[in-house]
Amino acid sequence: MKFNFKIKIFISALRLYFQRIAFERNPKKHQQKMWRKVQRQVLTVSPFYKSFSDKDLIEFPIQEKKQFMKNFNVINTKGIDIKQAIDIATRSEKSRNFSPTINGLTVGLSTGTSGNKGLFLVSKQERAMWVALILQRIIGWKFRKRKIAFFLRANSNLYTSVQSKLLAFNFFDLLNPLDEHLSRIQKLQPNIIVGQPSLLVLLAEAQKKSVIKLNPEKIISVAEVLSPKDKEIIEGIFKIDVQQVYQCSEGMLGQSCKKGNIHLNEDGLIIEKQWIDKERFIPIITDLRRNIQPIIRYKMNDILHATNCSCGSKMLAISSIEGRMDDILIFQENKIIFPDFIRRAITGTNPKIDNYQLIRISDRKFNMFINPEKYWNQAKAAVLDVLSMKDVDDIDIIKISKIRHEKGTKFRRIHAKYN
Ligand SMILES: [Zn+2]
Repeated sequence: MKFNFKIKIFISALRLYFQRIAFERNPKKHQQKMWRKVQRQVLTVSPFYKSFSDKDLIEFPIQEKKQFMKNFNVINTKGIDIKQAIDIATRSEKSRNFSPTINGLTVGLSTGTSGNKGLFLVSKQERAMWVALILQRIIGWKFRKRKIAFFLRANSNLYTSVQSKLLAFNFFDLLNPLDEHLSRIQKLQPNIIVGQPSLLVLLAEAQKKSVIKLNPEKIISVAEVLSPKDKEIIEGIFKIDVQQVYQCSEGMLGQSCKKGNIHLNEDGLIIEKQWIDKERFIPIITDLRRNIQPIIRYKMNDILHATNCSCGSKMLAISSIEGRMDDILIFQENKIIFPDFIRRAITGTNPKIDNYQLIRISDRKFNMFINPEKYWNQAKAAVLDVLSMKDVDDIDIIKISKIRHEKGTKFRRIHAKYN
């Protein structure tokens, strides 16, 4: 890591520290101050936002990923062309050589669940801020050498930015076979393991069978929904808490606290809530720390479960990320069933159920995988119960003997959409 970049990280860390204090003292005032700065310095140079940069946030259009990507060329403040950026990022993924830049900016693709990949564009300054956030809020500063095993679909020089004398970053390519990972991680003996829950569970199983013998001090779950069941399995075997990070191409949004809830980083984000019911909401985010690719009233595709946390932070607490909007089962007459009910129904059948998947194949037909298989009938009855409580009847569930998981993509237990 270059000296210059280290200085940038150090300054970002200081800035973060004071922003956090200012936020906890007076959340509204702090956010307003940062928002005005974004209006002045960022939005005036974005062709898309220039015309209403002096308006109140509430007057800005809400955009979802589709519109956001469509307007990419006019939203970003550096005049970067989306075709060119995607081309560079794709070529880098294909060659597995992950340091693509365009005009000095880091460019990367994020994992989309339904094929709609996002494109992110960050400056050196933003990269330093990201590293500072990771160090301060997730990994923690320590003055001894630590090794990180990072399981990812695609690496990026955003991630390798944390590489330094004290932190050795080891990228594990999710496209490689598991056996290879196991022998490599055994040799590495990482202090910190970062990966998606489906992968962490595989590591836990290998540890249980003594295929590997690891003693990590931190396990960090990213990318997929961490179900209570998976959390229990991983924590039970490695004997440490699993930390959760809520991160996507839209930025570092939050991380879990000592009490196990996830706090959204509101000292740098304005979160508007679109309520689905009394507890669940879809977040609309405005990122107060992004300059190159302004994120203003960006509607996420996630369902978050609001809660109160007793840890003392004023930053918005959520008990879980329940899944994506695509995981919600919607039947005729607008009967809606949240994925969490299905998950709880299946895992509640028997504590021995350690893997499952429900895939909708038509309006009233599903494929279901349950492991161990002997609990399949019980699980089926439990799912039908949940559905009939919502007056959804005449459902057909068919047994399948293999899960559906395309290598390198996020694993989803519930597929609610069919085509
Ligand atoms: Zn908390």
